[in-house]
Amino acid sequence: MVIDQTLIARITAEVMAHMQGNSTQAYGIFATVDEAVAAARSAQKQLAGLSIEKRECLIQAMRDTAYENAALLAQMAVEESGMGNVADKTIKNQLAARKTPGTEDLCTHAWSGDHGLTLIEMGPYGVIGAITPTTNPSETVICNGIGMIAAGNAVIFSPHPKAKGTSIKIIRLLNEAIVKAGGPDNLLTTLAEPTIEAANAIMKHPGINMLVATGGPGVVKAVMSSGKKAIGAGAGNPPAVVDETADIEKAARDIVAGCSFDNNLPCIAEKEVIAVGCIADQLMAYMQKYGAYKISGRQIDELLGIIMTEEEAKMAAGCTEKPKKVYGINKDYVGKDASYILSKLGIEAPAGTKVIICETEADHPFVIEELMMPVLPVVQVKDVDAAIQLAVKVEHGNRHTAVMHSKNVDHLTRLAKAIETTIFVKNAPSYAGIGVGGEGFTTFTIAGPTGEGLTSPRSFTRQRRCVLVDAFSIV
Ligand code: NAD
Repeated sequence: MVIDQTLIARITAEVMAHMQGNSTQAYGIFATVDEAVAAARSAQKQLAGLSIEKRECLIQAMRDTAYENAALLAQMAVEESGMGNVADKTIKNQLAARKTPGTEDLCTHAWSGDHGLTLIEMGPYGVIGAITPTTNPSETVICNGIGMIAAGNAVIFSPHPKAKGTSIKIIRLLNEAIVKAGGPDNLLTTLAEPTIEAANAIMKHPGINMLVATGGPGVVKAVMSSGKKAIGAGAGNPPAVVDETADIEKAARDIVAGCSFDNNLPCIAEKEVIAVGCIADQLMAYMQKYGAYKISGRQIDELLGIIMTEEEAKMAAGCTEKPKKVYGINKDYVGKDASYILSKLGIEAPAGTKVIICETEADHPFVIEELMMPVLPVVQVKDVDAAIQLAVKVEHGNRHTAVMHSKNVDHLTRLAKAIETTIFVKNAPSYAGIGVGGEGFTTFTIAGPTGEGLTSPRSFTRQRRCVLVDAFSIV
């Protein structure tokens, strides 16, 4: 017998089912893409036969199990991926369980008049292929799972291979909760051995009606080129702008809190500060009061050599110019604690250190690249006009997230209009933009490139019109 990847995956799926004590239920874990898609299609048909009231009851069961297991999943994610911290990941899991909208998000539009009644209703796509990131593994499955099922779909998840154990655990828990609440098994499916090749097979599979990718530029481009309806939730590089009218102490506290949340892994987290010169020193002093450790001079160059990779850009044939340096991220440091990163500089961080700050020029690689670690460059500019201009530039047109601390309504409005981000947070930590300490629902899939914005169940629906002529209009 040839022992290949599929055989290993099949054995893993079967062992997991037996360990569960019930080999007839798959609870969403399959050896091949074909099997996972077939099971999800069958589950989706069964879901379509249930009432919305029952669907809401299944969602409540998903919410409860996700909430109860929030800390366990956070612990698993930190151990497996080596990124982030348990306390903040627990909050993110709880947030996804509690504040992801359910079926109430689906609404019907109606027109009535001389010629009767016309409705537009939001119907399911069918089976959705959802590709999820290593930075938010369980919270994205919880959030996508609730939203997609609320909209009447089933899902096949393609988790990042570096977070497969955590992702499989939450998919299994959610299926178990659904089955216990009287719903079909396999509304959420995945593979026992998720890989990039499997993600590509999911993108091409004829049994998948829609794709949703939450991740970096590569995967967003891949789903948008797939020929299927696709939602792409891509990278950000959120600037936090502070002008001279802001409450500087509060701005400093909020920036440290937002930037250090889950060790800066969230795509919405502050990635660079742009401060108007006259308040910049005061801002940095307050940041130090709230848990920032400031490095300077040679330490900044040393840190660059540690957390970033560097190579020479490929130049066109015949070009005589000196090659430019191209920087990338050293993935070993993504999502690590500030104290761990400081230890690599030979610095023992004082207790309570949350983030490393440093003053840099506007074109420093720390400003330009999405670091996803608690290292926050601060750039001084002469006035608010320069701050707005630079913020737009370093956000790179991602149209993802921006933060501003100011009491001047004109300044706030000008940056919001110029930067055109999906999320714009005023006078708060960035996470207020996804409902932590701010109003509104949450999501872990923020679709800037394809324009759905903060996704919710309605993002996973098809609009369908139903027309009844010359009746049901009662006036
Ligand atoms: P990643 O792009 O490396 O991986 C994301 C997912 O895509 C994984 O499941 C991975 O296996 C898969 N993948 C990657 N390249 C692929 C390809 N070419 N073909 C098929 N599948 C592919 O990202 P990550 O490191 O897991 O997550 C961090 C990135 O995701 C950051 O850039 C962050 O800003 C972004 N992100 C965005 C959002 C959002 O809502 N906009 C949310 C979370 C993370």
